[in-house]
Amino acid sequence: MPGHGVWHGVWAEKRCAACSAPFVPYGSSGHATSQYFCPACLEKLIVLCTGYCPLCGEIAAWPLLPPAPCGRCVQSPPPWSSFTFFAPYEGLLRRLVLSFKFQEKLVLANPLAGLVLARQGPAPVGYTRLVPVPLHAHRLQQRGYNQAYELCKALYSQWPERARPLLLPEALERTRATTPQAQLPRAARKENIQGVFHVPETKHVAGHKVVLVDDISTTGETLRAATKALLRAGAVEVACMVVCRTSVHQRKPEDR
Ligand SMILES: [Zn+2]
Ligand SMILES: [Zn+2]
Repeated sequence: MPGHGVWHGVWAEKRCAACSAPFVPYGSSGHATSQYFCPACLEKLIVLCTGYCPLCGEIAAWPLLPPAPCGRCVQSPPPWSSFTFFAPYEGLLRRLVLSFKFQEKLVLANPLAGLVLARQGPAPVGYTRLVPVPLHAHRLQQRGYNQAYELCKALYSQWPERARPLLLPEALERTRATTPQAQLPRAARKENIQGVFHVPETKHVAGHKVVLVDDISTTGETLRAATKALLRAGAVEVACMVVCRTSVHQRKPEDR
């Protein structure tokens, strides 16, 4: 206990999820992000407002253009009804996601989910199921946790209670182990992931609107395959939420 007896006291002070610096949360607008990150780090996590495709998150070559569908989405619209991501996979956000995913920094689940929700705004209406992109059993065993499921739990806890979807960690299943998408050339990714996802019990998703969650989207092939599996099982529509989207303009494949 610091002995300074200052008025704002220790009760209000928090530690920044990114740099560990103590800070006093500011603003009460319900922006969860201001509860987790100090002002300096929050500034480095600036959300992408221009230069991306609103349908799949593809980062455009020209950062200042208003959001517009990319060539691929114009040609063949994605199977999901909406796509939410906070920012590109780079800088501070990339470092946070890497330690969340590979260094067991599970305390980052809440701050990262806070970023997604801040981007999303109000929870999507009528969504009754919350489903993580699953890992294959072998990888789950290696890593000890599925980062997408950890994000789902954090999203669930921050979602307004009256609109909370049911969290279904095992609604989707991976039927075989695959090479991590980021280790493959773009052209091979679709084939790698095709037919990988399966809904073991369709009654859990049939007739429901489903929120599908992952940490990173690289080209979107994983989300496409998972969304299609949910739709085949009778889901009415699927909304994808990810923390970040890699950019072909600065991809670092060794990260996965
Ligand atoms: Zn900080
Ligand atoms: Zn697109």
